[in-house]
Amino acid sequence: MDLKEVLNKYELVVGIEIHAQLNTESKAYCSDKNEFGQVPNTLISPISLGHPGTLPMFNEKVLEHAIKLGIACKCNITKMMHFDRKNYFYADLPKGYQITQDQTPICRGGHIDVKLKNGEEKSIELTRIHMEEDSGKSIHDLDPFNTLIDLNRAGVPLLEIVTEPVIKSSEEAYQYVSEIRKLLRYLDICDGNMEEGSMRCDVNISIMLKGSKEFGQRVEIKNLNSIRNVQRSIDYEIIRHAELLEKNIKIDPETRTFDAPSGSTKAMRTKEAAHDYRYFPEPDLNPISLSNEFINKMKSKMPELPNELFKKYTSKLGLSDYDANNLTEHKEIANYFEKVIEHTTNYKSATNWIMGSIKSILNQQAISINEFQIPAKHISELIKMIDENKISHSLANQKLFDEMMTHPTIDPLSLAKKNNWISKEDEGELEEIIKNIFIKNPSETERFKSGEKKLTGFFMGQIMKATKGTANPKTVVQLINQIIKEF
Ligand code: ADP
Ligand code: MG
Repeated sequence: MDLKEVLNKYELVVGIEIHAQLNTESKAYCSDKNEFGQVPNTLISPISLGHPGTLPMFNEKVLEHAIKLGIACKCNITKMMHFDRKNYFYADLPKGYQITQDQTPICRGGHIDVKLKNGEEKSIELTRIHMEEDSGKSIHDLDPFNTLIDLNRAGVPLLEIVTEPVIKSSEEAYQYVSEIRKLLRYLDICDGNMEEGSMRCDVNISIMLKGSKEFGQRVEIKNLNSIRNVQRSIDYEIIRHAELLEKNIKIDPETRTFDAPSGSTKAMRTKEAAHDYRYFPEPDLNPISLSNEFINKMKSKMPELPNELFKKYTSKLGLSDYDANNLTEHKEIANYFEKVIEHTTNYKSATNWIMGSIKSILNQQAISINEFQIPAKHISELIKMIDENKISHSLANQKLFDEMMTHPTIDPLSLAKKNNWISKEDEGELEEIIKNIFIKNPSETERFKSGEKKLTGFFMGQIMKATKGTANPKTVVQLINQIIKEF
């Protein structure tokens, strides 16, 4: 069956669980450093190792980060909460339990709004967000005979973000995960790097006959390492499910993994009934009581979020949805844009410079805009020079911008002056130049006079040569059409 056939008959239901590693300095329940990529088993104390007699201590930064995300997703923030122990045995979990939140997640409800390609907007409801700790890492592919364990990750703070089963297409899933990642980055609480595992996605998928009220059997795909693969794995599973159902074969409640090269999923383990994690309240940590004051303080610390910026750019600044999307895609780009428009109201031109010449430099040099050499203020000055006809747009784009790259500390007006690129503002001078060119080229002038408009290009070339490209093309066209009448 192909996707189209399947979707004529069946309806997709997806719910997503995302684990986001928080970028705090230290771990969730002790002062060990929280850093990726260090020498294995160097960021560990007896607490991370779960030695008997040690006591955890809660890192309040985790609480702040969780509340920020909760505010951004418009969740209900839980005032009275505690931590729970989730008990299971695994080699990379030295304590034998994970500290998490079961009954009292810090956030309930809330939603993430996504935009789809067809222009439709959809609100994806969240079930909950809770705080927990990461386990260590088992490494199966370094040593051919042994599994290696790195406990640097044990105790790293996580937020788990769970959606309701309301996602209806693989595109919605793609947009949802993109939106969450964007938000985590804007809030500066997680780097969202899926390849390094700082954001991990589990996707729950089922299908049911169109219009049915009863969900089908779900399977869970674990640890997808890119947003693209979230979408691909769903597209693969829909068809696999439909083909089984068409053959009257029951779908197993499995956990599966996605194999990126082949684009297919394979069974990892079957989910036995329900796990018994024997959750109980963590006796070593105090319950947490949040005051309104504390939540309000967090509200006042919120940065501008991408959807708010999008609204501002489309309504107040009059930019198109397309431009506003591009500008808000990355927080750093939006920040740079904000700095440029502190000094200019030509928002469209600021957008064009950033998404055009600047973006192509960033791509060429593989750098982020934070490392871009030219200060935002100089870009706004450049825009002003063009708007005031001090320099032609083409000269600014082709020459002055390069010069600004070479001398990022010098302002563009000085650079243009130094290179003699300032337009001949005195039209009298330009008129003289045009007249001389008409005189020097009598046959072209004759043909132009008798209506051969395509010679405009020829004269433009001559005039640009004579003015070293500083003439404003619009003025030139106006003047040659006016002056030719005298010939
Ligand atoms: P577990 O803890 O076993 O993973 P949960 O009940 O917490 O189970 O659900 C996890 C995720 O699965 C949630 O995002 C939820 O929306 C989603 N989900 C639940 N039932 C279905 C279903 N039938 N089809 C697709 N997704 C589902
Ligand atoms: Mg799950």
